[in-house]
Amino acid sequence: TSQRRVSIFGATGSIGQSTIDLIARDLAAYDVVALTGGHNVALLARDAIRLNADIAITAHEEHLPALRDRLSGSGIEAAAGEAAIEEAATRPADWVMSAIVGAAGLLPGLRALEARATLALANKESLVTAGPLIMATAKAHHARILPVDSEHSAVFQGLAGENLAAVERVIITASGGAFRDWPLEKLAHATLAQASAHPNWDMGQRITIDSASMFNKALEVIETKEYFGFRADQIEVVVHPQSLVHALVGFNDGALMAHLGAPDMRHAIGYALHWPDRRTLPVDRLDLAQIATLEFRAPDEQRYPALRLAREVMAAGGLCGAIFNAAKEEALDSFIAGRIGFMDMADVVEQVLTRLDADVTLMQGAMTLDNVRAADQMGRITAQQVIGSYP
Ligand code: NDP
Ligand code: MG
Repeated sequence: TSQRRVSIFGATGSIGQSTIDLIARDLAAYDVVALTGGHNVALLARDAIRLNADIAITAHEEHLPALRDRLSGSGIEAAAGEAAIEEAATRPADWVMSAIVGAAGLLPGLRALEARATLALANKESLVTAGPLIMATAKAHHARILPVDSEHSAVFQGLAGENLAAVERVIITASGGAFRDWPLEKLAHATLAQASAHPNWDMGQRITIDSASMFNKALEVIETKEYFGFRADQIEVVVHPQSLVHALVGFNDGALMAHLGAPDMRHAIGYALHWPDRRTLPVDRLDLAQIATLEFRAPDEQRYPALRLAREVMAAGGLCGAIFNAAKEEALDSFIAGRIGFMDMADVVEQVLTRLDADVTLMQGAMTLDNVRAADQMGRITAQQVIGSYP
């Protein structure tokens, strides 16, 4: 048959569900290999049955009996744990969506590339923690990585048919998140509920909070550098509260090519799914006369220290990205748990970077999976020490 074999890692999440929405509209065109999830076993089982997947995997061993139960009689294989997710990524597939949240998304992405799948990469943490490793793995196996992050999809589209040497700069937009109009002194007391409400995009909770703190944009600046290979000083961030322009590419003749679209991730997912074709997608069309004006402003570095930290991480290079991401994930967990305040997240990450900066053996290690994991662990342990020292 001419069915495309597809797998979705992080199928129960926000990106995973949008991906399934697109695939389910044309199910006959796809042969679904693997779906993975975490705690949401009911949704995972429902979609595995709906899409007739070969295998459904939960990240958590304790959920295996429940998953088996829900899949019984369906003929769909059930499995659990990190190793099972890794194994599923080695199964032949034409297109694999990497939409697990956090550093856990790296390994399945690497395995999928080794199996020569086209990797639709939503998991930006893969590029932040191990950019050179994942890009080299794709190259070694002649596998393609297509960006799914909306800004990066926009840049990718802006570069189509262009000479990379003619690119002067890349501008990615930031909505500014939930607190862009808050007075600075109120930010320290922002609550979890307030940080979890994004003005424009409907996303998973973690990336929504990261949008309010701009850690998401910090990760995306690094992601831009690693994926496209631009220098750090070519990458700019501009606050654009409407989230209609996703990115702009600036050329040496002064032209700026902007990508506009409704804030709906099904555009970037669908673009990666159908690339190099374009297909009709179920996203809203913009009415420019209705929109009337587009608003841009410079990001306030005091409000968003994460952006400054991203510059430091890019200057340091190597395993610093893995430490940065791990410290950010720990700080985010602690904010979600109510242990630290909103602005403390950036403070924790900065302190971790300062403490580990002196660890030359760690920082200068080669970019191998083992070293990335060691740097990730050190980032987490150090973040816990910093958080433990808070009053
Ligand atoms: P969600 O939190 O909505 O979903 C995350 C998915 O990963 C779920 O399927 C979850 O399972 C699973 N998961 C969580 N932890 C683990 C783990 N340790 N091991 C294996 N699976 C796990 O996240 P999003 O969909 O918002 O984001 C996914 C990725 O895409 C992130 O890297 C994010 O930065 C990126 N991204 C997201 C955008 C968006 O619009 N949402 C936009 C651009 C990028 P379960 O829920 O069942 O526990
Ligand atoms: Mg984005």
